[in-house]
Amino acid sequence: MNPYEKLLLENKAWAQEMLEEDTDYFNRLAKLQTPEFLWIGCSDSRVPADKITGTQPGEIFVHRNIANLVINTDVNLLSVLDYAVNHLKVNHVIVCGHYGCGGVKAAMTNHDFNHLLNMWLRNIKDVYRIYQQELNNIENEEARADRLVELSVKEQVMRLAKTSIIQRAWKYGKRPVLHGWVYGLKDGIIKSLFDMQPGSDMDNIYKYDDL
Ligand SMILES: [Zn+2]
Repeated sequence: MNPYEKLLLENKAWAQEMLEEDTDYFNRLAKLQTPEFLWIGCSDSRVPADKITGTQPGEIFVHRNIANLVINTDVNLLSVLDYAVNHLKVNHVIVCGHYGCGGVKAAMTNHDFNHLLNMWLRNIKDVYRIYQQELNNIENEEARADRLVELSVKEQVMRLAKTSIIQRAWKYGKRPVLHGWVYGLKDGIIKSLFDMQPGSDMDNIYKYDDL
């Protein structure tokens, strides 16, 4: 059997199992999704958003990219954010990084990963530059990478707050709360690092005053 064929077989078994538990399961889900959360996570196969949070289909809207970055020219991410905030009306946006992130580790090297990946990883290097004093003082390389994972998550959350999508929702809807989390590959535990409540302050230059 081809490896991909196993996926299709597993899918049939799963669908069957769900129906045995609840004959109306798919009918109900097909009609409506009302997720409470938008998850912005890493594409890493070891960090599946629904599994590690025990959420079911319909409960969590998901965007994943390498190293869970929020980039203000990324039409894909911004479309997901716009849809989740303005149409699904999620109350929480979670940026979840993870320790041992390959994207973060790659960004800490001086290696040329060729144009596209270099372009992507530059965003993490820019975070490193902001916090270089703190990071350079951490001798252990793994500990330094783990700290950069945390600092990057914090930066991505702040980048969400800089968008007019979030600022408008804060002004007119008093939501969503923004969360910065980090998942531990070694223990499976999510650590909550940083929250931004609706209306949180930020550097003046990023504030829209005519929303
Ligand atoms: Zn990662």
